[in-house]
Amino acid sequence: MIVKFIRRLLGGGASESAPPAPAARPPAASGPTLLTYRGSELGIKREQISPAAMKTCEVLQRGGYKAFVVGGGVRDSLLGLQPKDFDVATDATPEEVQALFRRARIIGRRFKIVHVMFGRETIETSTFRALQTDAETDEHGRVLRDNVFGSQHEDALRRDFTINALYYDPIGDQVLDYLGGVADLKARRLRMIGDPATRYREDPVRMLRTVRFAAKLDFEVDPATLAPVRELASLIENVPSARLFDEMLKLLESGHALACVRRLRAEGLHHGVLPLLDVILEQPHGERFIEVALANTDDRVRAGKSVSPGFLFATLLWQLVSDRWQALMAGGEHSIPALMQAMDSVLDEQASKLAIQRRHIADMREIWGLQPRLEKGGRGAIRALEHLRFRAGFDFLLLRVEAGELPASLGQWWTQFVEGDAATREQLLDARPGEARTGPARRRRRRSSARRTSANGDPDHGGDGAIADDGVPADRAASIDRDWPSDLQGGGSPRDRDPQR
Ligand code: ATP
Ligand code: MG
Repeated sequence: MIVKFIRRLLGGGASESAPPAPAARPPAASGPTLLTYRGSELGIKREQISPAAMKTCEVLQRGGYKAFVVGGGVRDSLLGLQPKDFDVATDATPEEVQALFRRARIIGRRFKIVHVMFGRETIETSTFRALQTDAETDEHGRVLRDNVFGSQHEDALRRDFTINALYYDPIGDQVLDYLGGVADLKARRLRMIGDPATRYREDPVRMLRTVRFAAKLDFEVDPATLAPVRELASLIENVPSARLFDEMLKLLESGHALACVRRLRAEGLHHGVLPLLDVILEQPHGERFIEVALANTDDRVRAGKSVSPGFLFATLLWQLVSDRWQALMAGGEHSIPALMQAMDSVLDEQASKLAIQRRHIADMREIWGLQPRLEKGGRGAIRALEHLRFRAGFDFLLLRVEAGELPASLGQWWTQFVEGDAATREQLLDARPGEARTGPARRRRRRSSARRTSANGDPDHGGDGAIADDGVPADRAASIDRDWPSDLQGGGSPRDRDPQR
């Protein structure tokens, strides 16, 4: 019966895959084709596998259990990419896993997994589980519970893509491929396991994963895998927002955020479906700032640097804040209270919708709150340098410069100030006394000389060398270019805090 079930899920998929490499074993007498390969022959280098994942597998195997690296760790190693993290799959139950390690914690309510910790690294270790045909679902087919242990085989079938269902035993140097994942990797093809529409209904987040992996790996999406996405896109609305937040964050931190966002739009996965994407794609002044911010995030990720979600979300919501800030000032409010109010009203409106966690919100406030002081430069710069979030605030300012929102000279001034010794700083302070300017300028064209700056504050500013106070419009009211509906203007009261602490 299980064979029938598997065949139905596969739709004959395994036998369709390209012939395996010579190391493949003939198909097992029963069940779908299981192909095995030597990892080294496929190009996996053991050094690529983290020592912590290696150790987890070793300990489990010594304890008499099966244990494999699975998912992105195998997929990326096979592609010659550095995996982001490593997951381990085993036939040991969570309790059995926990008993074998000194630092291991069982987590999860819906389905228990074990976090095995070595130093700062955590290896997510999960027990093989099965996809139930009679699982509890919501009215759209979304699986609400999938907590039944299963065979390794069944574990492969419940995964999303064939390339994510490869099991690597780093001790025996063996890759197990139940579903033709190796052939798909070679063909650079993203193929959903089973019937794609059913799998998207079970878990609509898989649509985001399709887009993310296609963009990240530059793979062609198998036509049958892509076909249902447009039609089923609206099912994403039923996904709990915290889960959506996690998956969107993965997408934004994939190193291919810009490509992902474009692709999501191409597949019709926004417009009321993904609140965050609506924010990204429906910017009041076009997408210049967001594009610069996402390109910057991509550069950082690709250079192996960390990306802070607070910084990322501060960039995504900036235009809303900035517009409201200007509108409030145009209404006669002073700069700082206006900014406070603008931040409050945008966060009140967006934070719960996007499920942004509180600690990220605190970061966002500080990054935004530093902007007026950084725009001003002058003597206040010395105190700004001591701010806990100065670096992030400075990086943010450089993005605004790159997007053409502030003059290049301001970015250069700060870059030199940050890098300079005490004497240089004094000189700079003399060259740029505090300005009257208190807010962002709109619609300045990006200066061709302003090269990209990295969002960690490693400035690689070419610039034109001029530090003059050019082009900072004194009258910011004149730069306001839109009327906000009145309900967007006054929302939230100024909070009793000083962002420039
Ligand atoms: P990366 O970590 O590089 O983003 P990954 O493939 O490891 O990619 P994870 O989210 O870490 O992605 O998930 C690990 C594995 O768990 C996946 O490779 C896949 O086999 C399985 N998986 C994750 N999410 C789903 C899902 N929504 N449906 C089915 N299987 C999933
Ligand atoms: Mg992973």
